[in-house]
Amino acid sequence: MAKMYEFIDHSHDVVVVGAGGAGLRATLGMAEQGLRTACITKVFPTRSHTVAAQGGIAASLVNMTPDSWQWHMYDTVKGSDWLGDTDAMEYLAREAPKAVYELEHYGVPFSRNEEGKIYQRPFGGHMQNFGDGPPVQRTCAAADRTGHAILHTLYGQSLKHNAEFYIEYFALDLIMSEDGVCQGVIAWNLDDGTIHRFAAKMVVLATGGYGRAYFSCTSAHTCTGDGGGMVARAGLPLQDMEFVQFHPTGIYGSGCLITEGARGEGGYLVNSEGERFMERYAPSAKDLASRDVVSRCMTLEIREGRGVGKNKDHIFLHLDHLDPALLAERLPGISESAKIFAGVDVTKEPIPVLPTVHYNMGGIPTNYWGEVLNADGTNPNRIQPGLMAVGEAGCASVHGANRLGSNSLTDLVVFGRAAAIRAGQVVDPKEAIPTPNAASCEKIMDRFDRLRHASGAIPTADLRDKMQRAMQEDAAVFRTQESLEQGCRRLSQIWGELKDLKVTDRSMIWNSDLVETLELENLMANAITTVYGAEARKESRGAHAREDYKDGPLGGRDDENWRKHTLARVSEAGEVTLDYRPVITEPLTPYEQGGIDPKKIAPKARVY
Ligand SMILES: Cc1cc2nc3c(=O)[nH]c(=O)nc-3n(C[C@H](O)[C@H](O)[C@H](O)COP(=O)(O)OP(=O)(O)OC[C@H]3O[C@@H](n4cnc5c(N)ncnc54)[C@H](O)[C@@H]3O)c2cc1C
Repeated sequence: MAKMYEFIDHSHDVVVVGAGGAGLRATLGMAEQGLRTACITKVFPTRSHTVAAQGGIAASLVNMTPDSWQWHMYDTVKGSDWLGDTDAMEYLAREAPKAVYELEHYGVPFSRNEEGKIYQRPFGGHMQNFGDGPPVQRTCAAADRTGHAILHTLYGQSLKHNAEFYIEYFALDLIMSEDGVCQGVIAWNLDDGTIHRFAAKMVVLATGGYGRAYFSCTSAHTCTGDGGGMVARAGLPLQDMEFVQFHPTGIYGSGCLITEGARGEGGYLVNSEGERFMERYAPSAKDLASRDVVSRCMTLEIREGRGVGKNKDHIFLHLDHLDPALLAERLPGISESAKIFAGVDVTKEPIPVLPTVHYNMGGIPTNYWGEVLNADGTNPNRIQPGLMAVGEAGCASVHGANRLGSNSLTDLVVFGRAAAIRAGQVVDPKEAIPTPNAASCEKIMDRFDRLRHASGAIPTADLRDKMQRAMQEDAAVFRTQESLEQGCRRLSQIWGELKDLKVTDRSMIWNSDLVETLELENLMANAITTVYGAEARKESRGAHAREDYKDGPLGGRDDENWRKHTLARVSEAGEVTLDYRPVITEPLTPYEQGGIDPKKIAPKARVY
C-alpha cells in the first residue's frame, strides 16, 4: 500500500524537528559549527508555542539583587521536589547566564534596569540564600513578551547561518534501522501533499509539550506531544509523565495565561472574603510560592466555599493597586489579554483566574547533553544512537516533579545549546549519511495511509474531546486512587476506540482532519502513560498531589520508595509497561572544586 507514496529524499548531518525556542537554539548551534542542518516544523517558526512565553528566563546575572548559580540550583532542586537529576540541574543553573548573554548578543531586546543592564523580576520559588529569602530578582524579561523576542531573534540568526527550514512539514515518525539506530524522519508537506524522507546522522526532537491532552490548558492547539508519540511508537520509553503542571492563573473560562510575572510585579490573589489567603499557606513566599503549591491552595479555597463569582468557582488576581504606568510598561500583553478574554480593565478590576494545565515536566528521557536514553531498570543511562530531545518534549530531568516559573526558557536555550555542542563532538561531517531502512519507511507510510482512509464511526474531534475530559477529571490538581484507576480505565477504552476513527477528508493538501488525527494518536501516547504512571506512584510529590498520600513529615512524599523516575512504554495495542530508574543525586562539580555544598541539597520537607 505504501508504494502509492513516492519519497522526495534529503540528506543532512542533523535534522531538528521543531522550531520553538529549543529547536531553534539547537538548529543555530549546529549550523554555526558547519553541520548541514535541517529544521522541520509543522507551523511557521515564530508561531511555535514559545512565542506565548511572557514572564521571562531565569539566570543568576546579579543585575538587581544578590544571587548565585548555587542559589538558582538550590531553588531548582527544591522546586523539583527532589526528583530532578542533580547533574542536569547544576548544568542548567551554571550555564544559564552564558546562554542569556548569548541571547543578548544575538539581539534579544531585553528590558533594561536603570543602569542599562538586563532587567530581572521576581518569580515564584526563586529565592536568595538557599531558599531562606527574601525573593531574588532572577527572571530576565523583555516586557511580558520574552518568548516572542527570543523566537524572532533565534530564527533570524539560524537563517543567517544557512540552516535549511522545511516549514509546514508534519513529521510522521522516526526511521529506525534494524539494529535500533535512528536514521532520520519522514515528513508530510502540508502545503503540496508531497512526502519527504530525511536521512540524518542525528535527529533532534524539539516538538514541545502535550498540554492539549487536557480540556483546559494555556498551551497552543499545536502542543500535541508529537515527539512523545514518535518515541513511543519506536518502542522507547517516556519518563515521569505523571507530573503535569497547573499554572495558578489561567483566565477563568478561556484558560489564556496571565504570567506569574504579574505576581512578581506585586499582584496578589484573594478569595470571596477579600482575604489574601496565600499569606496563610506560605507565610514566607506568599503569592510567589511554587506553582503546584499556589494551585493547590486556590483549589482548597474554592472547595471550602471561598471561591469568587456566581458559582464561587474561581479566584481573583488583583493588579489594580499597581501604578498604571508600571502595568503599561512591564505587563502590556497581559493587560490586553485580560481585556479581551475576561472583559476586565486591570487598572480598575481584579482578573478572574483558575489553575489551568500549563507544562509537562515529563517527556523523552535524556542526559544533560540532550542524548535520548533507551533506559530501563537495568540500563538506566543507555544512550539511544542517533536521537536527541530538547525543550519541553525532553526530560533531562531538570524540573523533576514541578518546574519553577521562567526555568523552561532557560531549559530551552541551555539544552538546545548543549545538544549542539554534543553533536559537534559525536557527528562526523565526513562520515556517510545512513541509507534509510526500507521496512521502517514502509511501516510509517502504512500507518499514514490507514489513518488517511480511516472509515470508522467516531469523528476525531469527538474522541479527542472524550480524552480531554477524562484527563481533566481524572488526572487533575488533586488525585486519588479511585480517580486514577478510573483514568486508566477510560484512557484504555479510548485507545481501543482509535481503531474506529472516521476521517472524512482523503486529500493530501491542507488536510487538517488528517493532521488532527495524527495529533490525536500522539496525544494518546502521552495521555495514557500519564495516567498509568500516576496510578502507580503511591506518594505525593510536586505536581502529583494525591489525597490518599498526604500525611507524614514530608506531606505524603516517600523518598525511600519513590525517589525514582518512572519509565513508561506503550505497545501498539495500548498496553502500558512501567519501569523505574534512579534519580541522579551527584552534582557535576565536587564541593571542594567550587560546587554546591551537598548538605544544602539533601532532601527535606518542601515549605515556602
Ligand atoms: C502561555 C505560556 C506562557 C509561558 N511563559 C513562560 C515563561 O515566561 N517562562 C518560561 O520559562 N516558560 C514559559 N512557558 C513554558 C515555555 O514557553 C514552553 O515550555 C516552551 O516554550 C516550549 O518550547 P519548545 O521549544 O520545547 O516547544 P514549542 O515552542 O512548543 O515548539 C514546538 C515546535 O515543534 C514543532 N512540531 C511539533 N510537532 C511537530 C511535528 N509533528 N512535525 C513538525 N514539527 C512539529 C512545532 O511546529 C514547533 O515549532 C510558557 C508556556 C505557555 C503555554
